[in-house]
Amino acid sequence: MITVLAGGVGAARFLTGLAQLIKQENLTVIVNTGDDIDLFGLHISPDIDIVTYTLAGIVNDEKGWGIKGDTFNCLNMLKSFGEVVWFNLGDQDFATSILRTFMLKNGAALSQVSAKVSCDLGLKLKILPMTDDKVATYVQIPDEGFVHFEEYLVKRAAKDPVFNVKFVGAEGARPAVGVIDAILTSERVIICPSNPIVSIGAILSIPGVRDALRSTGAKKVAVSPIVAGAPIKGPADKLLNGLGVEVSAFGVAKLYADFLDGFIIDSMDVAERGRIEALGVKVVVGNTLMKDLASKVALAKMTLDL
Ligand code: GDP
Repeated sequence: MITVLAGGVGAARFLTGLAQLIKQENLTVIVNTGDDIDLFGLHISPDIDIVTYTLAGIVNDEKGWGIKGDTFNCLNMLKSFGEVVWFNLGDQDFATSILRTFMLKNGAALSQVSAKVSCDLGLKLKILPMTDDKVATYVQIPDEGFVHFEEYLVKRAAKDPVFNVKFVGAEGARPAVGVIDAILTSERVIICPSNPIVSIGAILSIPGVRDALRSTGAKKVAVSPIVAGAPIKGPADKLLNGLGVEVSAFGVAKLYADFLDGFIIDSMDVAERGRIEALGVKVVVGNTLMKDLASKVALAKMTLDL
């Protein structure tokens, strides 16, 4: 059994490669839900949906989120009603969120919703939210104070510097059923090349997860989302900076060092090898840029071989 800690787009791209190498039945993905947000009366789980749509082969590849060929009639109608619309959700994507909201209102847990959606889309792996409880990631920015991470990322296009990050509700949250068990019983736990603060950091903020990673007998391997001193995409640099963490593979390794066995860094970052190994983490250097299926599979293979 392999367990993977995942955010959204970076994770989904990595998982596309991994799913070519191991049977879905042997794979559990624990997904960040700190980005979840209630809009238009609906509960939206961006990262769970990105991972699910990608593995089901229906994601909009260009954007990395949403469904291929989806239309935006519902959103346009909301706009014509004068609603302020800054979060993009296609019509089919709306359906997923309607189902989720409806099931939650009828007493289902988020993990039951994600199990149903992934099963109905033909997937055989387990996609678990990090928690079934309500946790929301907020970032502190100039003038506004704390804003929801999606508001920062989408509405404000991640332009502001970040001073601080908080995971509201995390302290009292419990890992979703199956999360701790998956970490403790897997032979390998892979930490995706995802945002180390708001994706992986959010998962690690759930009480019990970090302890499970420290105590499990599984090999724990991560891929650096920072290449040549910058993220491939997204605001990881602003978040790392804001928390006083060096924007480098080394900076990310330091965040995971207390539980990590192995770290895959890009060939461009080979100079950081010594510093990372001094943290007690084995380093493998290779190509970590996931440009096509072959490079995704090759990267996934590195995480299985390390
Ligand atoms: P988000 O929630 O959609 O932002 O996605 P994630 O948290 O899963 O991933 C965002 C991170 O993925 C960013 O920090 C990127 O640098 C990283 N990332 C995206 N594509 C690649 C890639 O091809 N290689 C590596 N090494 N990292 C990547």
